[in-house]
Amino acid sequence: MTVIAGNWKMHMGPERARAFLAGLRLDGVPADRELLIFPPSLTLAAVVADPGRDPRVRVGIQNIHWEDEGAFTGEVSAPMAAEAGATFALIGHSERRHVFGETDDQVALKMRAASRHALVPVVCVGETLDERRAGRVEEVILRQLESALGAFPEDGRVLLAYEPVWAIGTGETATPEDASTAHGTLRRRLVKTLGPTRATDVPILYGGSVKPGNAAELLSAPEVDGVLVGGASLDPESFTQIASSRA
Ligand code: PEP
Repeated sequence: MTVIAGNWKMHMGPERARAFLAGLRLDGVPADRELLIFPPSLTLAAVVADPGRDPRVRVGIQNIHWEDEGAFTGEVSAPMAAEAGATFALIGHSERRHVFGETDDQVALKMRAASRHALVPVVCVGETLDERRAGRVEEVILRQLESALGAFPEDGRVLLAYEPVWAIGTGETATPEDASTAHGTLRRRLVKTLGPTRATDVPILYGGSVKPGNAAELLSAPEVDGVLVGGASLDPESFTQIASSRA
């Protein structure tokens, strides 16, 4: 399966989300595509309940707290997301790490919370531009993976997303070669800890300014098992075009 995931970030209230779903035409999307949407938490229940949602589109939450409940004003927990119909949870997105100061340890705690409540974690890793310029890509993404690996569920599913921070929302895209190199690094680390069979079961998505015009070449790069799309996932037509791109 090739995973096509849309991260709506802080866009799309319930009304716009319903219009998006009504505009989505999936007839031409190959059957081997797994489609995920991450709406804002306030919109999530409306997306899940929308009778116009094609059942192929599965729904995830963009962020969870690591506790199940408590005095954490403004936060949303894994059991709440699961109760509202989420089946996936984005964890450690670069905006959470770099705008909100989320640490590797918090990412690991969130992974455990997701697993406790049967949410499939989609863990994001990626280097900043300074880290890339300093030749530290491997070190940074392996450190982030290492910490998340300790919290991988025993036997449940996990997805990884390699999202170079400098490519997110900037229009800059990693070359397919850059993506394959980083994904290969992550895959080798997964094999070391999980063994070859389980490691192959972890799809590694590329994210960072994926658009209809570059999706096919990124999806055909070795080790790229799917894409995580921000801006271009807000429009049903461009999301459909990306989902239909030939790998
Ligand atoms: C993202 O939000 O994960 C992302 C990759 O955004 P964009 O596609 O807009 O760069």
